[in-house]
Amino acid sequence: MKPSGRPNGRLGVVITGGTIGMHGGDDGLAPASGLAMRLREALCAQGRHDVGPFVELAPLIDSANAEPEFWVRIAAAVVSLVEDDDCSGVLILHGTDTMAYTAAGLAFLLFGLPVPVVLTGAMHPIGDVGSDGWDNLSGALDLLTSGPPAGTTVYFAGRQIPAVHCSKWRTQTADAFTRTLRPTMDRSAPALPPWSYRELVAPARVAVLPLHPGFEPTALAALAAAGVPGCVLECYGSGTAPVADPRFIAALELARSRNMVVVAISQCPEGAVAFGHYATDHRLKTAGVVSGGGMTREVALAKLGILLGAGLPPAACRDWMRVSVFGEL
Ligand code: ASP
Repeated sequence: MKPSGRPNGRLGVVITGGTIGMHGGDDGLAPASGLAMRLREALCAQGRHDVGPFVELAPLIDSANAEPEFWVRIAAAVVSLVEDDDCSGVLILHGTDTMAYTAAGLAFLLFGLPVPVVLTGAMHPIGDVGSDGWDNLSGALDLLTSGPPAGTTVYFAGRQIPAVHCSKWRTQTADAFTRTLRPTMDRSAPALPPWSYRELVAPARVAVLPLHPGFEPTALAALAAAGVPGCVLECYGSGTAPVADPRFIAALELARSRNMVVVAISQCPEGAVAFGHYATDHRLKTAGVVSGGGMTREVALAKLGILLGAGLPPAACRDWMRVSVFGEL
């Protein structure tokens, strides 16, 4: 195993798009190539010779277009920088809109990678006067050279946030990300996960459904009937749902009969699902719904997609959703 974050080790950079490298056009800000060259020159001028190689994914995207397949492309670039170019850490420049989802996806996809990976970006293009891009970039590089443990972290506006506890929280200020306040339940996985960075998994496409008064159970039934293999159900409070509606229970039964894995998380920004507190959540459990504890939407979506993409049968996916790989519960 390589030591992580070696001082003097080379830091690879993967550029994926996002505001940090955007230019203004007729329709508004859009990704533009050339950031790698600008960064290389600027960093050299600052005497930073430890950064590179730079990999610019093509096409560069607004992260609103980052799908789970894109996580795999980023992960493959990271693995190649580590294994082929011997980088001791990797920086990923990414748009902020879906950075927390990509970070969660990479945390799971890159399980076992022996070096640190840090994601950052900016709320304003790095070419604009007063952009937060330079501070985020240099702070993220400093973090990588400080020898952090292996694993995936978001660095933004001076804060380091573990990938599995990160959400985009603000749209108008530079401190766009928060560390989610969710209690962790220490039910650690009893074994190593059945996937790793050595063989990247193609995540399965899964759905997220937020409950709300007037929730239409046909939405859940339609997903199950269409063969969608997993669904993150954003429940109320500590895990309640409209179980008095027989159509809702019928939709859950259909989901179970179609082998869809349904995971309950809380739609409250703080707290966790704790089945067994109310009779309503007991009914969810008996209908086959798994508690996702304190997982955020980003983490539950990424983990469920990767478990299903790894080919685990539904029962094994449910077991893995109940235990913690990185403290994500
Ligand atoms: N729409 C941009 C993106 O996520 C926003 C940003 O980077 O801040 O790619």
